[in-house]
Amino acid sequence: MVIKPKVRGFICTNAHPAGCAESVKRQIQYVQNKGNISNPAKNVLVIGCSTGYGLASRITAAFGGSAKTLGVCFEKEPSERKTGTAGWYNTAAFHTEANKTGLYAKTLNGDAFSHQLKAEVIETIKRDLGSIDLIVYSLASPRRTDPDTGQAYLSSLKPIGQSYTSKTFDTNKEVVHEVNLDPASEDDINNTVKVMGGEDWELWLKALNQAGVLAKGCRTTAYTYIGKELTWPIYGHATIGKAKEDLDRAARQLNQNYQDTGLRAFVTSLKAVVTQASSAIPVMPLYISLMYQVMKDEGCHEGVIEQIYALFNEQLLAENPVLDEADRIRMDGVETNDHIQSKIKAIWPEVTTENFPELGDYQGYHEDFLRLFGFAFDNVNYDEDISPLADW
Ligand code: NAD
Repeated sequence: MVIKPKVRGFICTNAHPAGCAESVKRQIQYVQNKGNISNPAKNVLVIGCSTGYGLASRITAAFGGSAKTLGVCFEKEPSERKTGTAGWYNTAAFHTEANKTGLYAKTLNGDAFSHQLKAEVIETIKRDLGSIDLIVYSLASPRRTDPDTGQAYLSSLKPIGQSYTSKTFDTNKEVVHEVNLDPASEDDINNTVKVMGGEDWELWLKALNQAGVLAKGCRTTAYTYIGKELTWPIYGHATIGKAKEDLDRAARQLNQNYQDTGLRAFVTSLKAVVTQASSAIPVMPLYISLMYQVMKDEGCHEGVIEQIYALFNEQLLAENPVLDEADRIRMDGVETNDHIQSKIKAIWPEVTTENFPELGDYQGYHEDFLRLFGFAFDNVNYDEDISPLADW
């Protein structure tokens, strides 16, 4: 079939297998050009391994540190008539590249929140790896079913305390307009913490520890976004920010609970980038477009792979990572510094639909968005007939 992008709102409902493979290959190339990371982990579990920051983590661990990687994701398989999700194709491409270099790679596709998937992961570790020395928790999900009660929870992206009106960029209609977001209820806040907070990260560590598959001195990290004033009303001080605060609580708890195993748990704050998860957050596409423009002008732009390579090479596996006042690893220092933020703040009130292409990096945002789904690569022939089927 000939596959062209079908964009609906903030999502693209199909994906291109050759384009996703290109995206994975470019990330691998980046890592290989940079060279081996210091202090590599041997056996790495990546929960949320198929797109965004989790995929970059898997690529860095494998191609920058020769790690054996076990991945967990929740992706749709293709059929003869319908493409799979981008994460499916990314994973197939990752396996192809890992096989070429003889790197162990296994991926389990299913619900990471369930007891069953955790049990399957443990079985695989026991059979193939013995133990795990790094666990990356990189899930982004709008819903979670509590594995004990069976109750389903939905997360929300709402301000707390009062409604919030802001500019946003509608990536579908391509207009800058105002959005008014109603404040969250107590239930909204609690449900978002239940989905995106630290409870499931803790359940993973508990299950892995009980099964005896945590290597001595194992490390684990979960990813957060902290941001600054421009994004606080919709992120840092909003429902999702509350869930992220819960990750800090979970990290403290993990460090306490598994002290005897030498486990160290960190929350890592990463910069804002275009991913499927961030595209869904109101205001973020506009903020990211302006921030990309400013950081490109300043020569300090970074995408997922640059952030993760630096994290793995310099901090996550270092003997003594540099931590902030809340014991988090910070990779977002350039985005959040006053100089960059003041430049974004200066543009913010000026931006309209008409001047957006000049003031913001609309081109870069749009290209990155399409590339999430395997489109917009200049060396991929999108007129070619291609099978949507792929496997690993
Ligand atoms: P993403 O949407 O690209 O990736 C989400 C991953 O989670 C995918 O691999 C998906 O398959 C997996 N997943 C979702 N639900 C699942 C389930 N039930 N079972 C198994 N796998 C499941 O997201 P991302 O932007 O890379 O986000 C990853 C983490 O990084 C999140 O915690 C996010 O808050 C954080 N983060 C993102 C940004 C950003 O700007 N994108 C910035 C800082 C931190």
